[in-house]
Amino acid sequence: MSADGIRRKIARRIRAEGPLSIAAYMAMALHDPEDGYYARRDPIGVKGDFITAPEISQVFGELVGVWCALTWHQLGRPDPVILAELGPGRGVLIGDLLRAAATVPEFRRALRLYLVERSTALRAEQEMRLGRFQPVWRPGLEDLPDGPLLLVANEFLDALPIRQFARRGAHWAERMVALDEQDRLAFVDGPASPLASLLVPHTLRDSARQGAVVEICPAALTLAAGLGARFSRQSGAALFIDYGYFPSAPGPTLRALQRHREVSVLAAPGTADLSAHVDFAAFAKAARDRGVDTHGPVPQGRFLTALGVEVRLAALAAQATPAQRQILERGVERLLDPGEMGTLFKAMALVSPGLPPPPGFETGL
Ligand code: SAH
Repeated sequence: MSADGIRRKIARRIRAEGPLSIAAYMAMALHDPEDGYYARRDPIGVKGDFITAPEISQVFGELVGVWCALTWHQLGRPDPVILAELGPGRGVLIGDLLRAAATVPEFRRALRLYLVERSTALRAEQEMRLGRFQPVWRPGLEDLPDGPLLLVANEFLDALPIRQFARRGAHWAERMVALDEQDRLAFVDGPASPLASLLVPHTLRDSARQGAVVEICPAALTLAAGLGARFSRQSGAALFIDYGYFPSAPGPTLRALQRHREVSVLAAPGTADLSAHVDFAAFAKAARDRGVDTHGPVPQGRFLTALGVEVRLAALAAQATPAQRQILERGVERLLDPGEMGTLFKAMALVSPGLPPPPGFETGL
């Protein structure tokens, strides 16, 4: 396995099949079983390429645990209940969540832990951190068993492959990945097509300026529709936290990150994280079309404040040394500050129809 291995595989496929959609490029670069970004490494944390909220502060996972326990009550305290996380990374969020859940012993006893993860490297990390809770791993949401479900996902949707469409005259053309004369990966326009126009959200189709680039994320829409269908048949609630926008708007937002620095999207397939901002409006619509209720998005700062972040911080600070207190306070500030993660990051909930708004979503946007 080598960084060049995946570039060669991508080039070979382009020579055989012609230009790839950006989604196909992302899927190969991130998930190729031998040379993909997630297959090869543990990318998260100070030493990795990016850092996430649970890695910044234990308070994040604890409050998601509070959310789960309160929402479990709203679901009528089902026993057993499936608690599943999509893309658990290093397993830090679930560890903090379960510690908070232990304060509600009936909930803790009722829950059965499922982890949806594709990366073998990260599964090994999760096993190490969470093995004692006997999690069951599944490759996809559709592989979870039937029954009441609580689902959480932090920075999962942004990792799903997106497609890009650019406005060209009256039509839209899909942006594709091709090879240039020097055999380097390069963006090109696919043919302008009325079909491409149909994939662009109708709110943007006619209003976007010439040259505008709109992103859609078929995997996120499929996930929303699947959860929507499930929650209209069986009780459940899902919490998604991610960076993104609402309402739908032109991008592009696709980015590559390597060691906390932005690099070119095509420069380093397999060795840089690729992610795009989440279109929460499109996600919510895909779920609502299947008959579930959606709430939010609510800015992360407001969501965590509604769940009692200040009280939790004060309780931890009271038992901490001055140096620890400073780290705790700085971590929470990063999560809440509008200039850091407080506003760009947002929380959205999908719940079975007829349930009250879940905790943190009582007042809408
Ligand atoms: N939730 C964690 C990790 C975020 S990184 C945190 O907040 O720290 C994205 C995670 O999603 C990784 O665990 C990655 O391996 C996983 N992932 C990405 N695409 C996936 C897919 N299609 N199916 C399952 N897991 C996926």
